Amino acid sequence: MVSWERATSGFLDRIGLQSIKSKIIVFALLATLIPSVTTGWLSYRNNRRAIDEQIVLELTSVTSHASRELELWLKERRYELRVLSSSYEVSENLEKLNRSGQVGRTKALALQRIEAYLGSIGEKFSDYEELVVLDAQGNTLTSSMGRAVELNLTGNWFDRVQANETVIGNPYWDETFDVGVMIIVERIVAADGTFLGAMAAKINFDEINGILTSYAKNPSHELYLVTKKGEIVISSRKLDGPFMASELMATATEGLFAHEMSLVEFRSFRGNAVMGALHTVPQLGWGLVAEKDRTQAYSVIVRLRNITLALISTALLGIGLAAYLLGLTIVSPLRRLTHGATKVARGDLDVNLPFHDRSEVGYMTEVFNGMVARLRKFRDENVAINQELHNKNAALRMLSITDSLTGLYNRTELPKLLEIELARAQQRQHSFSILMIDIDRFKRFNDTYGHQAGDDLLRCVAEVLKSLSRACDVAARYGGEEFLILLTETEPDEALRFAERLRVRVEQIRSQGKERVTISVGVASFPSNGDDVESIIRQADAALYRCKRRGRNQVAPARAGQEILEPIPG
Ligand code: GH3
Ligand code: MG
Ligand code: MG
Repeated sequence: MVSWERATSGFLDRIGLQSIKSKIIVFALLATLIPSVTTGWLSYRNNRRAIDEQIVLELTSVTSHASRELELWLKERRYELRVLSSSYEVSENLEKLNRSGQVGRTKALALQRIEAYLGSIGEKFSDYEELVVLDAQGNTLTSSMGRAVELNLTGNWFDRVQANETVIGNPYWDETFDVGVMIIVERIVAADGTFLGAMAAKINFDEINGILTSYAKNPSHELYLVTKKGEIVISSRKLDGPFMASELMATATEGLFAHEMSLVEFRSFRGNAVMGALHTVPQLGWGLVAEKDRTQAYSVIVRLRNITLALISTALLGIGLAAYLLGLTIVSPLRRLTHGATKVARGDLDVNLPFHDRSEVGYMTEVFNGMVARLRKFRDENVAINQELHNKNAALRMLSITDSLTGLYNRTELPKLLEIELARAQQRQHSFSILMIDIDRFKRFNDTYGHQAGDDLLRCVAEVLKSLSRACDVAARYGGEEFLILLTETEPDEALRFAERLRVRVEQIRSQGKERVTISVGVASFPSNGDDVESIIRQADAALYRCKRRGRNQVAPARAGQEILEPIPG
């Protein structure tokens, strides 16, 4: 393996991605996630920028229009007050009051006139809660309510009035009228320009409220006036608590005043996160703020973001599932191949793997199946050859222990079979018997009828021996015309009876035109005639000899003890 391949594989192993399936899934998920998240983020950024621009436009346009309207309204009030203060009714009567030479009655009348005038104006203009007239020293003479009232103004305001400046006081809660007001003061001068005093108007915020409300048509907007200290004077929506109790946080106020006509994000006095823009109202020194709830402003983006996230999640799910199935189609056949190869390695060749496609793995499976099929065929042929070899060996073995003329056992296997029976008999303590059989005067038969006839006779006798003996007995050709029969688990008496049956049956063999054939049979048994195979055979042989000596065609049992063999008479 080349080094980069080893390094990559090592890295993937370390992060737990050993299997092909997990590698495919991770690759598919990354291939989906990276482009979709990047695109989603870019579109979110663009949307956000577009929405911000739209909001700035929206809010600044509202504040600039509304503040212009406010300025206009204020200008009108100032002008109004200037007209009222310079009216003849006021200035003439105030002159009379200031003049030191006038009698008390004249002064009282002048005051009455002024009061009546103020009262009539107060009734006409709903903006004015109270109109107050002050003398040249700044003392309150009377008001539209016919009273001497203390004005809620601080600092050198009267000097400024004297210097022909319009003084606008701070807004406050007026206990008498139970309403929030602000005071505007204009000077009163005589026709010759002499300073006579001042006229102050307590103006409520009804009209301003109307202006704010009319510009806050969009329900998501709130429009309000805020002092540089952050106190909310009046708003397009209802304010809770006492007059000017609502306040912006210092940071928000500073931010708004510092970035006039720009979009500022801050926490509103109502507690929610908002975006707003401020426009200063120069004559008042206050700011007109238009704000919009942040959540509401970005709701479209949030909805878009949620839809994008849902789409990405669905795509991830779908592609993850597809990658999983793809992984399965590759990994499952590979796993089957591995199992199959393991089985074959264990020696089990009954393997035939299914394959459903023409992919590389499918081709590999097909080749594997072909290979296993060839191995199977090779094994089956081997088994057949082995079986044939085994059969042939068995046949060869049968041939090697069988007499070719008679089909009986030959002498090769006989000692082994006799030893087995001896061991069994000794172990189980039972008897067995041996019959030694010889055809009488066979030489003469051969000489008379020929060798071929002799062979035929040997086969006939062998047939008789086979037919009378049991499956558990052993009949063998012992020599030229001599036979041996092992009668398993057979007592001497039974063996003698069997030998006699044999003799009689052979005697009955009738060969056309040929002389009668007889046999002589010597019988010996274990344990009565010996403890080993050789001595029992020897005893049976001795008994056979005895038969021959006594004239042949007979059966003789072996005698107890060793028998001395005597010559056979011819
Ligand atoms: P006895 O009664 O004393 O047994 O006399 P016998 O003639 O049977 O015995 P002997 O041993 O003198 O003769 C056996 C003869 O058996 C000699 C041989 O020619 C014959 N013989 C041996 N093997 C075969 C064989 O396979 N086929 C044929 N046809 N004859 C055989
Ligand atoms: Mg013989
Ligand atoms: Mg013989």
